[in-house]
Amino acid sequence: MKIAVDFHIHTSLSPCADEDMTPNNIINMSMLKGLDAIGITDHNSAQNCKACLDVAKSKGIIVIPGMELQTKEEVHLICLFKGIDEVLSLQQLVYDQLPEKENNPKVFGRQLVFNEKDEAIGENKRMLITSTGLSLNEVFYEVEKREGIIIPAHVDRSSYSLIGTLGFLPEQLEIKTLEISRRCNINTFLEKYKYLKKHKFIQSSDAHRLGDILERENFIEVEEKTIDGIFRALR
Ligand SMILES: [Zn+2]
Ligand SMILES: [Zn+2]
Repeated sequence: MKIAVDFHIHTSLSPCADEDMTPNNIINMSMLKGLDAIGITDHNSAQNCKACLDVAKSKGIIVIPGMELQTKEEVHLICLFKGIDEVLSLQQLVYDQLPEKENNPKVFGRQLVFNEKDEAIGENKRMLITSTGLSLNEVFYEVEKREGIIIPAHVDRSSYSLIGTLGFLPEQLEIKTLEISRRCNINTFLEKYKYLKKHKFIQSSDAHRLGDILERENFIEVEEKTIDGIFRALR
């Protein structure tokens, strides 16, 4: 069956995201838009994943805990996991590898942590939008170890993307699915990058505002509408 997905959504833990990107607002908007599954992917952190999973429990939408990790090569990778423990274990590793710099909320915005009632229960003071000390190879190894999936983010963009930054797709990396931006035309993109034709592609919103979350416009084919089914489809 085909399900409508958006695997790249930021909460207000990402400094660049609106402060109304709270767990309930995101889940409710995603359901209103008719999505079957979403991914929660803040910059270098997963601190709002648990609240989003808790909100989704009583609703008919699948929430995949994840993170948009920035490698030391300045490449953004969407890392998705089947459970909260796996993503939080990666988060620990990422926090150990983040530079000891503070976020400047006046310039970048606050980094808010919420509970499942949308109450702000904390603010992450570290600078989250920066490169970690983890290399591409290390991130692939660590995510694989936690049975997660990596989808290189917005590969059509010139910066912070695997292809834009490196100029090629490293052969040693196990990559099946690539993400292109919502407004990118896949046919035009593949004209330019013919060697990528064997890959699967998904489009995501990279939403930082509620209105940006995808409508029913990007579909994947799954055997069953579960996290396991989704992971099998992306592999
Ligand atoms: Zn990004
Ligand atoms: Zn993003």
